[in-house]
Amino acid sequence: NIMHLANPTNTIAVLNRYGFNFQKKFGQNFLIDENIVEKIVREAGVTKDDFVLEIGPGIGTMTQILCENAREVVAVEIDTKLIPILKEDTLRYYDNVTVINEDILKLDINKIVKEKNNGKPIKVVANLPYYITTPIIMGLFENHVALDSITIMVQKEVADRMQVGPGTKDYGALSLAVQYYAKPEIVLNVPASCFMPRPNVDSAVIRLNRYQTPAYDVKNEKLLFNLIKASFLQRRKTMLNSVSNGLSNVTKEDLANALESMGLPKTVRGEALTLEQFVELSNLLAK
Ligand code: SAM
Repeated sequence: NIMHLANPTNTIAVLNRYGFNFQKKFGQNFLIDENIVEKIVREAGVTKDDFVLEIGPGIGTMTQILCENAREVVAVEIDTKLIPILKEDTLRYYDNVTVINEDILKLDINKIVKEKNNGKPIKVVANLPYYITTPIIMGLFENHVALDSITIMVQKEVADRMQVGPGTKDYGALSLAVQYYAKPEIVLNVPASCFMPRPNVDSAVIRLNRYQTPAYDVKNEKLLFNLIKASFLQRRKTMLNSVSNGLSNVTKEDLANALESMGLPKTVRGEALTLEQFVELSNLLAK
């Protein structure tokens, strides 16, 4: 008879048993709402066929539900103090989980996917520490990890940023990068009261469905991303100025010609361009 953790009483009991203190530097806010945990796992679409990578299991609140729904789970936790809790206590009855004590940013995820899932696409599910959301997501995409989807709890604002298009203040390099690789969908809003300790911000769960074949025809990916980065580094400037400052291999003249051939004004800013337009522009400049 397994005791689920997703309520304040059981969470406090485990924390007290081990004399655990929350570490701010690891962004520790543990879920204490059973409904939310179950909804996240459901929205992730986890089935008995799936291999799931969980980033930052904490005391194992969501890991328990993942183990009950997936074929196999690997949970990567940076905080050494949480490892005995997970291994000896909260996950001890599950035989389909491996706990790894490591920083996710230092782990060779491709190797795990190869060993545990024959290199086939995996599902990533996580309630992320907010300060490393972007490097984690970009790391998964840029290292070409075989992914079916990433379902993650992030700061509400960051979830919005991943989903929006031009014409809003949230639109930026992250929106474009995420949308190049995946189709984003916010699936759940989560109030601060669902966590212990309570965070200062509201959260949302976003699912990123990875495109299995590239959605955009790009001649030079590196150029595309350099163009995007340079355009948003100085977002109040015109593209012509910010790109010629930020990118040495694109001349002002080539850029002006490319913009003109796309029917865009010389004064256009990067924040006005859609992903399709960035792709077209980078293809015009890739020669
Ligand atoms: N999944 C748990 C839950 O929902 O209750 C905990 C979520 S808490 C927001 C984030 C977790 O990620 C913490 O357990 C923290 O120690 C862990 N963590 C932080 N940085 C990490 C890193 N670089 N690699 C792996 N885990 C990390």
